[in-house]
Amino acid sequence: SKRIVIKVGTSTIMYPNGAINLQQMEKLSFVLSDLLNQGKEIILVSSGAIGVGLSRMNLTKRPATIPEQQAIASIGQTELMSLYSKFFYHYGHQIGQVLLTKDVTDFPVSRRNTVNTFEQLLVKNVIPIVNENDTVSVEELDHLTRFGDNDTLSAIVLELTEADLLIMLSDIDGFYDKNPMKHDDAKRFDVVSEVTEDILALAQDATSKFGTGGMITKLNAAQIVLEADKRMVLANGSDLTILFRILNGEAEGTLFS
Ligand code: ADP
Repeated sequence: SKRIVIKVGTSTIMYPNGAINLQQMEKLSFVLSDLLNQGKEIILVSSGAIGVGLSRMNLTKRPATIPEQQAIASIGQTELMSLYSKFFYHYGHQIGQVLLTKDVTDFPVSRRNTVNTFEQLLVKNVIPIVNENDTVSVEELDHLTRFGDNDTLSAIVLELTEADLLIMLSDIDGFYDKNPMKHDDAKRFDVVSEVTEDILALAQDATSKFGTGGMITKLNAAQIVLEADKRMVLANGSDLTILFRILNGEAEGTLFS
């Protein structure tokens, strides 16, 4: 695959104590820059705006109201991009911020503009870094503006950019027959070819502190990817050099294909 969407969860770039994991952010920038050097086209979907915002404002938990949360996301998004910009610059690459709301993909004209922006960034060998636009996505207008989670968003970005592969990095090394954080005897699937009702029933609650998606939204994303006849790999983001191995064709995590 030449064009790849990579999604990192908050747990990949933040420590469990709520601090920014600079080592991981730098490593991510290094690996992705190297992949660009190899001729790959990479789109990064990065969570973490609220986590980084909380960290910058010395808060330990999300504020109560939606406007406050949106303000935290606004602060955190700026900081997140500033860090990525710095690290990618160090490795010789330019980034471009793409903030999306759901209506962007629902209306043909804004959809086309979005597609064109991605295309131009990729043509220029720039790495688009995508997130949901929390300033506009009001929770009460759920169906209109919100993707709701970056797992679904990353599957939509795969559609918009006509990428071949979505690599979803999480705090878990694949999809299991039950939540492996809670059950010692959970078994990992190597390959899942269809997201059926039975498969959906195996996804239980997330346990990570800042993540909002959980396994259900990852399966929703897999469903979108499979329907588009593309592939998704769900793998552990704790060692980011796993990206080299996945793109080298090695079996890592769970392949949805
Ligand atoms: P991220 O923040 O990386 O998006 P989440 O914490 O939202 O990740 O989701 C991953 C979590 O989903 C895992 O850590 C695990 O606790 C939970 N989970 C629930 N059911 C399953 C399952 N069947 N297989 C794997 N993980 C599962």
